[in-house]
Amino acid sequence: MFCFTKSILYLFDKQCFYKSVCFWCFFLAGYFHMREDLAKLLDLQNWDLETARLEQELSSFPSQREVMVEEVLSSRKRADSLKEKLAQSGSMRRDIELQINQQEQNLSKFSAQQMQTRKNDEYKAFESQMEATRGIISDLETRLLEMMEKEDLIRQQYEEVLKEKKRVEKRCKEQIIAIDARKQENLKLLEKRREHRKRFADQVPAALRIKYERMIKNKKGHVLVGIDGGACRGCHIKLPQQLVLSCKSEEQEVICINCGRLLYYSSEMKID
Ligand SMILES: [Zn+2]
Repeated sequence: MFCFTKSILYLFDKQCFYKSVCFWCFFLAGYFHMREDLAKLLDLQNWDLETARLEQELSSFPSQREVMVEEVLSSRKRADSLKEKLAQSGSMRRDIELQINQQEQNLSKFSAQQMQTRKNDEYKAFESQMEATRGIISDLETRLLEMMEKEDLIRQQYEEVLKEKKRVEKRCKEQIIAIDARKQENLKLLEKRREHRKRFADQVPAALRIKYERMIKNKKGHVLVGIDGGACRGCHIKLPQQLVLSCKSEEQEVICINCGRLLYYSSEMKID
């Protein structure tokens, strides 16, 4: 007889206190009845589906980890790019400062030469050179101010990106640790589940089990499904009445003519 308590306890890897069918299942069996071999197969299927879910979760961990690593690398790349931009801007600013310094030296030199000359045309020539130099210095100072503003902006962005990088690294590190821990838990759990599968598999008649295992290789998910309102719970297509009655009679194994899944009937199911 199908034992609900046992199935649930098996999922948590606990032994049922009762040797065969416990009181509650005996009680529930009065309400829910289904063919015993199919009930055992349903237990096995539930076990396999949970194992498959854990395997699926396990296979998603490398890509989840990859996303975290990518996020860290991308934030580092943003910070490195701004650092380089800041260095370039600093180098250009220092170059302008050097040019200003050079022009100021020229200005002092022209001024000294102007003071020494006694010729009027030379005096005027120095005056015009000094005027031109002052113009160059003024342009350079304007460029220097623009450059300094730009540099300040890049520095602010860089500081913000550095803070963000720190946050991203901390969050991703925590998530990677959590993913790795879950991976280890899943691996242990899967190992246990694979060992314990035999308990369920041995309960199912060999021919039925072999058929189920062949079907589950080709069809992912549920292979054994119930009937819901006269329709297959796998493909949700209405079944011929004769097929439903045949399933209800429990005399033979019934396959859905639309999706090829194995059908079962339980007394709480509606068939029309
Ligand atoms: Zn179907």
